[in-house]
Amino acid sequence: MTDVTMDKIVSLARRRGFVFPSSEIYGGLGSSYDYGHYGVLLKENVKARWLEAMVQERDDIVALDSAIILHPKIWEASGHVSGFTDPLVDCRTCKKRFRADHLGDEQCGRRPSKRPGETTDCDLTEARQFNLMFETRVGPVEETGQRVFLRPETAQGIFVNFKNVAQLARRKPPFGIAQIGKSFRNEITPGNFIFRTLEFEQMEMEYFVPPADADEWYRYWVDERVGWYVRYGIRPESLRVRAHDAEELSHYSSATSDVEYLYPIGWSELEGIANRGTFDLTAHTKASGTTLEWVDGGSGERYVPAVIEPAAGVNRAMLAFLCDAYDEETVGDRERTVLRLHPEIAPVKVAVLPLVPRDAGMAERARALHAELRRVMVAEHDDGGQIGRRYRRQDEIGTPWALTIDEQTLVDETVTIRDRDSLAQDRISIARAREHLIDRLAAPWSPPARAATSDA
Ligand code: ATP
Repeated sequence: MTDVTMDKIVSLARRRGFVFPSSEIYGGLGSSYDYGHYGVLLKENVKARWLEAMVQERDDIVALDSAIILHPKIWEASGHVSGFTDPLVDCRTCKKRFRADHLGDEQCGRRPSKRPGETTDCDLTEARQFNLMFETRVGPVEETGQRVFLRPETAQGIFVNFKNVAQLARRKPPFGIAQIGKSFRNEITPGNFIFRTLEFEQMEMEYFVPPADADEWYRYWVDERVGWYVRYGIRPESLRVRAHDAEELSHYSSATSDVEYLYPIGWSELEGIANRGTFDLTAHTKASGTTLEWVDGGSGERYVPAVIEPAAGVNRAMLAFLCDAYDEETVGDRERTVLRLHPEIAPVKVAVLPLVPRDAGMAERARALHAELRRVMVAEHDDGGQIGRRYRRQDEIGTPWALTIDEQTLVDETVTIRDRDSLAQDRISIARAREHLIDRLAAPWSPPARAATSDA
């Protein structure tokens, strides 16, 4: 089995232009990353598949895009100003800072590295609470400007729009509001590549239900969300659901389960599904004076709906897709690294490769085929270097199919289609290539076993 380490993922992501350390020419800024061409395409695919599953394929969920900077009272009502904190511990000896609740997983600043507090030289302060929200000011003058926050989650923008959506979208519970957008957290100990960063994207959906049905819908959404990851190619054995125990539950939640993925750093949260009860709508009703409840136009029945929230991180999902897809294998006497991404998640769907780029007939057909395909999917044309190297490059970015134009194409208008995973090569007619790829993209896909060695 291929040993998938974080170093290998970071190195591939960098080598192929998925993810770069941010502000690199200035020495970098810890735990901020920039996404390059393939990273953007991959990330956009993750978001698109989520939005499809939440909105396009259902009748009961609508989309929203709320502002990042909201009225500061929202964060008081939501409990974030007083309660969105992590306990922080400083070491007076090594000057490093740790999360008090993660001391067992952290390394102290000295060599050889030890756990904070492990040696007699460690001099840890008492834990103090540290708010994770980034603050800024609205208004031109620093001193008089209004203090505001960059949102640490997208959910509150949904709750405060409940009335708008319930009235205008003509939905009745159970119904949901889905939102994708950036969130910001001043994490004490960020790290592990894009797993925990200062700014990240969330995909959150608040599902409003009659309170009596909350538990049933909570269990429904846990299953739905696990199913979504499997549908897009994550191996079921790399996923598990872990229910929070009573001490771990957030102030607003009566039940929460994390969908965890087996990252190279161990089992860690990929997504959280929470039963938030009526906490949020009740809190905003009280603080704003606007009643946030469901009123049935026909019967006059009214109640405050309970909320079930699946909250996923785009970047953590992207990291899970990359880790799960990563494979190394020996083919003949050559080694290759391949990303076995689900075709609908893969940044590029097809590469068009003229076998002999100098040959005018091949070059012309390759250009024409590429122009036809790129109208319906992300397609790359590559005529640089030996064909084997061009295949390896596409393998490393996870392109599921390559179409090669060769001598035979000029004779019978067929091309070779090479499958990234099986390495099978078949011939299909150029005229049918587009339909063929559209069909294969729409077909169900599941990952092959890791490190199958082939002679192809
Ligand atoms: P953790 O316990 O790892 O700090 P959390 O429980 O605080 O995460 P939630 O508030 O439930 O996270 O946020 C929902 C999702 O947003 C998480 O499951 C994760 O995918 C993503 N997320 C949260 N914080 C970060 C971060 N700092 N960087 C990247 N993604 C994040």
